[in-house]
Amino acid sequence: MREIGHFINGERVAGRSGRTSNVYNPATGEVQAKVSLANAEELQAAVDAALAAQPAWAATNPQRRARVFMKFVDLLNQNMDELATLLSSEHGKTFDDAKGDVIRGLEVCEFVIGIPHLSKSEFTEGAGPGIDMYSIRQPVGIGAGITPFNFPAMIPMWMFAPAIACGNAFILKPSERDPSVPIRLAELMIEAGLPKGVLNVVNGDKSAVDGILAHPDIGGVSFVGSTPIARYVYGTAAANGKRVQTFGGAKNHMIIMPDADLDQAVNALMGAGYGAAGERCMAVSVAVPVGEETANRLVEKLVPKVESLRIGPYTDDKADMGPLVTKEAKARVTGLIDKGVEEGAKLLVDGRGFKLQGYEDGFFLGGCLFDHVTPDMEIYKTEIFGPVLSVVRAKNYEEALSLPMKHEYGNGVAIYTRDGDAARDFASRINIGMVGINVPIPVPLAYHSFGGWKASSFGDLNQYGTDSIKFWSRTKTVTSRWPSGIKDGAEFVMPTMK
Ligand code: NAD
Repeated sequence: MREIGHFINGERVAGRSGRTSNVYNPATGEVQAKVSLANAEELQAAVDAALAAQPAWAATNPQRRARVFMKFVDLLNQNMDELATLLSSEHGKTFDDAKGDVIRGLEVCEFVIGIPHLSKSEFTEGAGPGIDMYSIRQPVGIGAGITPFNFPAMIPMWMFAPAIACGNAFILKPSERDPSVPIRLAELMIEAGLPKGVLNVVNGDKSAVDGILAHPDIGGVSFVGSTPIARYVYGTAAANGKRVQTFGGAKNHMIIMPDADLDQAVNALMGAGYGAAGERCMAVSVAVPVGEETANRLVEKLVPKVESLRIGPYTDDKADMGPLVTKEAKARVTGLIDKGVEEGAKLLVDGRGFKLQGYEDGFFLGGCLFDHVTPDMEIYKTEIFGPVLSVVRAKNYEEALSLPMKHEYGNGVAIYTRDGDAARDFASRINIGMVGINVPIPVPLAYHSFGGWKASSFGDLNQYGTDSIKFWSRTKTVTSRWPSGIKDGAEFVMPTMK
């Protein structure tokens, strides 16, 4: 059995803890590898490598740091097919979708090539008599990233690219379910010219995460995953005096106004609801048609499309979606569907019995569509994270708006309408971090930033964009005066600018 270890000080190292976790091929259900789960000594080895490498890396001028990312972007493009295949084989998403996963991370690497400009600072000449004042941004030191299974290329790059560009060393703790791509990314960073020790990958589970959260030499932690763990990581890291940002789960609504282009809305719902088998934090899982007529027409158009979804392994280049990531994930989603039926929602398309010939042991689930879902139901409140779309009917715009407003989560939301006034009102009033107007998955581009509100994110600064430069660096402000500006005598009162 192939064993996946760690990447420490510029090379792959075998795990020594004796603890491992299964890595499946979700399409066949087979265990294809075992990933080592790090112990405290292995984490310490990564911290030691990072501590040794970071000062010289921080002292490397920003143009040279940028050039590593130029080369890395080039290598990502050259190795795109290999990376996407590796990614699909452990995650299960389609090959083209896996490429999207890599490319959305690559775009953040392109963004940080601007680090010489992004890290320029502020200077005030003559802040007082003979006094100059300037603020500089210095790296946090060692940053750590803890990432989820659903974007094993994109989210690690969202974290390590800005952190490393800012002059930090980095320790990545990827999801134990699909650990191969993060290690390959670290290898390509070395090939791109990154000094060894600046980027380390430590595989593991809760115990590795707890080790990171308690480690005195790790200054900043970024986490993406489910909300309960995000809350735990946020609280623990903050209690240990670290800067921390955490991003959690979601329940993204799409409101369909009576004047919307319904075909456009239906196509958007199909892609955003069922793409990646619904295992996206920006998946649309709730459709809110406004008015009975809109709802009836929408459902009528959705049913045949959900029934004819093409589901297959990543080797099927015509598949719309693949399997779920593990048997446990499939059992969890199936249990929630059972619960929805029990609670009285109308299951118009039932994918629970789906079987794919030749892949009977894969973790496949057919597309499911619920109608007449109400806010008190478990399937409305919980993030299902599977190919399940719930239709919640709203009488009017205000009722539709109030649904995502009152929901626990606040990651993404969308409105489909031709009415600019309604769209503008919606974007202004909604209490959610990322808003789409006739755009179903409004993931901002690399030079903006990504982050939800409410239980979808704890902390203030977002991922990527200029927020990430602020997160991965800290401000030092210098006030200077030279002898020619010094007045005689001691000053005993607080200096002011009166
Ligand atoms: P998860 O919370 O199970 O795992 C995330 C990370 O935390 C993994 O690295 C895992 O090893 C670690 N972890 C798991 N249990 C832990 C524990 N008890 N203590 C400490 N660490 C622990 O999430 P997942 O299933 O890998 O990913 C899916 C979730 O991530 C969904 O809720 C999804 O919405 C969310 N997500 C959010 C965003 C975002 O940007 N908001 C993006 C992608 C995914």
